[in-house]
Amino acid sequence: MKFDLLHPADQLVMIMDRIYSNNMTTMSGGNISILDENGDVWITPSGIDKGALTRGDICQVKPDGGVIGRHKPSVELPFHQKVYETRREVRAVVHAHPPALVSYSLTRTAPPTDIIPTPHIVIGKVGVAKYEVPGSRKLGENIAKIFAQGCNAVIMENHGVVTCGEDVFSAFERFETLEYCAELNIQSHKLGKPVSLTPDQIDLFKARHAGILGEFIPAQRSSQEKEARYAMCNLIRRAYGKKLFASSQGTFSQRLDGDSFLITPTGADRLYLEPADLVRVDNGWREAGKKPSRSVLLHRMIYRQHPDINAIAIAYPANVMAFGITRTELDARTIPESYIMMRSLNRAPFGANFTDPQKICSMISESAPLVLVENDSLLVTGKSLLNCFDKLEVSEFTAKTLISAKNIGEPVKISDAEVLEINKAFNLK
Ligand SMILES: [Zn+2]
Repeated sequence: MKFDLLHPADQLVMIMDRIYSNNMTTMSGGNISILDENGDVWITPSGIDKGALTRGDICQVKPDGGVIGRHKPSVELPFHQKVYETRREVRAVVHAHPPALVSYSLTRTAPPTDIIPTPHIVIGKVGVAKYEVPGSRKLGENIAKIFAQGCNAVIMENHGVVTCGEDVFSAFERFETLEYCAELNIQSHKLGKPVSLTPDQIDLFKARHAGILGEFIPAQRSSQEKEARYAMCNLIRRAYGKKLFASSQGTFSQRLDGDSFLITPTGADRLYLEPADLVRVDNGWREAGKKPSRSVLLHRMIYRQHPDINAIAIAYPANVMAFGITRTELDARTIPESYIMMRSLNRAPFGANFTDPQKICSMISESAPLVLVENDSLLVTGKSLLNCFDKLEVSEFTAKTLISAKNIGEPVKISDAEVLEINKAFNLK
């Protein structure tokens, strides 16, 4: 979808709907604005149900202060205007009260973003702005002061968060990523002590090589490929809705035949991914004009060495990741379903997926179909796309139940004898 070609009012409605439906704000909390090339600020209205916003509800504020529209602009308009005055390159501001970041705002601190590598790249610097009454000029000044220091995200004490960007999608992506970081930190603290990445580890990640593949123009598209494209897009959207993927993070691939597979492109918004956006990779060549996920070579290596694997997902579900960040063992012998799907979960050190993909590849087997890469991601393999998605969903569910159980008492594992019984009943090797 060409999001930037949509009218500002439509962009605001779409992003607000996404924030509200993903439980990242309440019905009346939060506001978003866009500064257009005429100097007009388009902003969400005050006091209107965020779950039923339409383009006609959006207010247009002229540079002279005149307002066009049927509602009053958000009471937080002054701080939006102050951010645009302070940072000339900024074209969009997102403000809301997402639960994990509000928890941080109550402690008057910002969540550490160095527990996984990408938030640093996506968000940049994060600051904290002093408390003031909502809608006041002083609140605007407090926020603008922190943005002036080069922060792209600001925690507002006892209130919420504001992010900015050169367009509304980048402001939203920073907002979503920071909320994810907050959630990840909170879940990690329930388990143990989060381990941060060192600056060297983050630099290693930034310098990783995607591997350059030559291009080819597909001569034909089989019905199987068309079906696979459609099915993958549906599951990618579902993974996004379930917070297994983020807007520009999360990779799926599916084998078509032999050394040919489909994979998600790099950087594209997962919610609006369309069948034509997926990238076909045949014998190490990529479909012309498209950029496959940076993990494409790891996917290819797995398919070549494991003929029974036909689908792979790389995801960042917060509860599973908390185990990788606190270096806590995730034992799937919780309920039979979890054990049958996940079996034994291997853990790889940070960086192994791009410095030593063979190591990851060798860890995978029928009795260990998943690998948790510390401070990075969860890799899931499956016999089919559905089987792979099922394992991914069950993993996050299992991690969540384990974290909750540990907060009630000491979880009891299914015993070795009971495991043998399950192996026999379900014909597991
Ligand atoms: Zn607010």
